[in-house]
Amino acid sequence: MEATTNSLTFRPLTDYRRCSRCVLDTTVADIWFDAQGVCKYCHIHDEMDRLHPQETMQADLERIVAKIKKDGRHKPYDCIVGVSGGRDSTYTLYMARKLGLRPLAVHFDNGWNSDIAVSNIRKATDLLRVDLHTVVADWEEFKGLQRAFLKASVPDADIPTDYAIYSVLYETAAKEGVGYILNGHSFRTEGTSPISWTYMDGRYFKDVHKKFGTGVVRSFKVMMMPYLLYCSFVKRIREVRLLEYVDYNKKKVDEVLARDLGWVYYGGHHHENLYTKFFQSFLLPNKFNIDKRKTELSALIRSGQITREDAIAELEASAYEYDRSVVTYAISKLGWTLEEWETIYHRAPRSHKDFKTYLPLIKLLRLPIWVACKLRMLPHILYLKYAS
Ligand SMILES: [Zn+2]
Repeated sequence: MEATTNSLTFRPLTDYRRCSRCVLDTTVADIWFDAQGVCKYCHIHDEMDRLHPQETMQADLERIVAKIKKDGRHKPYDCIVGVSGGRDSTYTLYMARKLGLRPLAVHFDNGWNSDIAVSNIRKATDLLRVDLHTVVADWEEFKGLQRAFLKASVPDADIPTDYAIYSVLYETAAKEGVGYILNGHSFRTEGTSPISWTYMDGRYFKDVHKKFGTGVVRSFKVMMMPYLLYCSFVKRIREVRLLEYVDYNKKKVDEVLARDLGWVYYGGHHHENLYTKFFQSFLLPNKFNIDKRKTELSALIRSGQITREDAIAELEASAYEYDRSVVTYAISKLGWTLEEWETIYHRAPRSHKDFKTYLPLIKLLRLPIWVACKLRMLPHILYLKYAS
C-alpha cells in the first residue's frame, strides 16, 4: 500500500500551461488554445451558451415542459430521470416535479452505493411521490467489468457505471414508451469532461470487455450504435438537460434539497458512490494526473459563480485528498490482493485510442450528426465534443 500511495505524486501545477480564462491546462491531452490563450473547452462553453441563451431560458423551459407534458398524456410517466442520490440528479428530479412533470426515477445499483446515497434516493422519491425503478447489477459480472477497465489501464475506468446508466435509461424509456430522458448534466455548472479524460461508447465498452474481461454482460443491455439510432429516430427518445434551463447555484441548491428533501451532502463531486470516490480522488490524480475538480471549477468560473483566482487557490491549497481506507476497501472489494493491484496500478497508462471505438465513424458522419443536432434530435454537445 505504501508503494501505491507514495510512489506517484502530483507534479506542481506550474509545470502546465493553463487557459487564460478557466483552470483547464495541458494535463488535458486534447486541449488547444486560441491566440488569446483561451482553451477549447471555453469555446465549447460559449457555443453551448449561444445555443442556450440565458435571456430565453425561461421561455425555452416552458416550451420544453409543455411538449413533454403533451407527448406524455395518457401515459403513466412523461419522462425518465436517472437518480444516483447525488446533488445534480436529485435536483433534476425535484425540478421535474416542481414543473408538474410525472417522472419515473431510475436507479442503477452497481453494488458500490454509500448509505447516504441510498437514503437520499429513498427520501427524494418518497417525498416527491415518484415511482422508483432500480436495476441491480449482478455483482460478479459488474466487478468483472470494472476490473477489465482497470486492467486496460485507461482513465475511463468509471465507464462501466456511466455506460450502464446510459444504457438502462434508454432501455427503460423504450420499454415504457416514454419519449424524454431528463439528465442532470449542465455545461454551466458541471462543465464538459475532456474527451481524453472521459470517453465512452458501446464499441469501446465491448472491446475493453473482450480483451480484459470475461463472460457476457447480462445485467443490462449494452447500448450499441444501432440501438441508439433506433431509440433516437424510431422511438424518438430525446435527452433533455433540464438544469441548463434553470438558474443553478450549487450552494442554493444544497440548501433547497436539504430543506425540502432532507438530502445530505456526501463530500466531493460524485462521491455518492464509493467506487467513484476511489476512482476520482485516488486513481485519476495519482496514476493519470487527472484532477476532475478542474472541469467543475472551470465551469463555475465561466458561469460567474467563482473567480479564477479563487479556483486556482483551491486547486493549489491541496492536492486531491483521498481517504486511504476507501482505497484499501475498493481494492479488496474488487477481489485483488495489494500485490496484484500494484502490478495493475503501475501499468503504463493507455487511452481509448488504443481500442476500437465509434470515433472514426462519428468523424465520418459529422455532417448528418450536425444536422440531427440542429434538429434537436441529438444533444448538440455530441457534435461539439466528438465530431467537430
Ligand atoms: Zn478555458
